[in-house]
Amino acid sequence: MAMETVLRDTPIQLMDPTFDRPPTPEPGCAVCDSLQIQINAASDPHSERYNPSEAIDLRILMNRHQVDEVAP
Ligand SMILES: [Zn+2]
Repeated sequence: MAMETVLRDTPIQLMDPTFDRPPTPEPGCAVCDSLQIQINAASDPHSERYNPSEAIDLRILMNRHQVDEVAP
């Protein structure tokens, strides 16, 4: 059964790491700062901009942005 072999050999895929470990803004980076401000607002249940799914999207954006920063 080829399918079973594939499944057994495939490492378990974890959830997007940004759910467990939110990226931290890099000091002095305007893009990180701006994203962090939006993340804070979207993550705060007392904020009128509270939007958990947007907060996740913004964390993913920051993660990608930071990957882009270190990429050659
Ligand atoms: Zn940045």
